[in-house]
Amino acid sequence: QNYLKLLEKSKNIYDLAFCKLAHQPFHKLSTMIKQIPFLLKFRSYESVYKFTSRYLGNEKLRRAFSIQPLLVGGNPFDTTCIYSLIHYLERAHGVYFAMGGTGNLVKALSKLMVEIGVKITLNTTIEKFILKNKKVNSIIDHAGKVRKADIFISNLDPLHLYKKIIYKNNNFSLKYKKKYARHSMGLFVLFFGTKKKFNKIKHHTIIFGKEYFELLEKIFRKYELPKDISIYLHRPTATDASFAPKGCDSFYALVPVPNLISKSICWQKEANEFKNHVLKVLEKRLMPGLQKEIVQDFYMTPLDFKENYLSDKGAGFSLAPFFTQSAWFRFHNKSEVLKNLFLVGAGTHPGAGLPGVLSSARVLESLL
Ligand SMILES: Cc1cc2nc3c(=O)[nH]c(=O)nc-3n(C[C@H](O)[C@H](O)[C@H](O)COP(=O)(O)OP(=O)(O)OC[C@H]3O[C@@H](n4cnc5c(N)ncnc54)[C@H](O)[C@@H]3O)c2cc1C
Repeated sequence: QNYLKLLEKSKNIYDLAFCKLAHQPFHKLSTMIKQIPFLLKFRSYESVYKFTSRYLGNEKLRRAFSIQPLLVGGNPFDTTCIYSLIHYLERAHGVYFAMGGTGNLVKALSKLMVEIGVKITLNTTIEKFILKNKKVNSIIDHAGKVRKADIFISNLDPLHLYKKIIYKNNNFSLKYKKKYARHSMGLFVLFFGTKKKFNKIKHHTIIFGKEYFELLEKIFRKYELPKDISIYLHRPTATDASFAPKGCDSFYALVPVPNLISKSICWQKEANEFKNHVLKVLEKRLMPGLQKEIVQDFYMTPLDFKENYLSDKGAGFSLAPFFTQSAWFRFHNKSEVLKNLFLVGAGTHPGAGLPGVLSSARVLESLL
């Protein structure tokens, strides 16, 4: 019964926050002010963990039902309970997997774009924005090529964009957002293939360590590499056999870790040892005999997120989903300072994760 109450509250938040507000532009303060009654009604100043604890008394259930902010880069003890909507969203629509992987979604979208005449340029890093009269005049890539346009749309991490590329001409709002930014956590992602099938393992598994509050403190406040880790294990082969040769399996293990604000972690030195630790935990808790079955593996640390994706502090999901970094407080979809610059993606309203990022594209559509 208490669970049903939690589900109902989660639905109420979902109906308004996701169905009505996630697709609405939030660059005007007046839009935010209009939502104050809703924000108070749903106690948006409370955390997801507190929201869950209101309905569930068992500590293990509280953990299981409050973990969803980690999917968008937030600490369940700090993330506004508006994100409790994720629970209802998953119940209402189910959890989907694109056959062939997310890369296939990208391919399908690219095909549609090419069909309507969009020209796509890959493997190109934009390094400079040339500004004129509070507008972007042109952008320059790593090879020095200049591109002009009437309108520019960016899905770079806005922290990188406004810190490293457009760092002049920032107004008070942007300076504040950059100075007081609280980043999402980092991710250690270990991909591996095995020469044997682990048929009992489902497509999605979350393995909790003994610690929960302490683990999240280490990741989000103390910036220490945890020993007692929690792992999300992904086994695409449970749904899509094309992910491994016949008789084999493929996985990734995603471990929340501190981002690069941490002064105590040296990934160059510690990554391999951490990988072995993750494998040992998997072997002990879920997959007996795992290590001798592995034929291929590689991993990504927060350093890779910083270097390959230009994510500020190597954060996995840009800004963390605090109340004070959501909606009007988040980076706007219409640039705070440049008239013809628009932003989409994880660091903008409404936030990270594919549903959030696609919603930001819908916001953009309405703005344009
Ligand atoms: C391991 C992992 C698993 C995930 N699983 C899920 C999931 O199951 N469901 C879900 O909903 N979400 C999931 N997410 C989250 C989701 O993938 C992200 O929130 C989403 O991809 C963010 O989209 P984005 O467009 O903001 O940024 P990105 O997808 O990171 O795209 C930004 C792109 O811009 C490029 N770029 C950056 N700077 C420049 C520059 N200066 N010039 C040119 N290009 C540049 C980057 O290289 C990158 O390719 C997962 C994330 C990770 C890391």
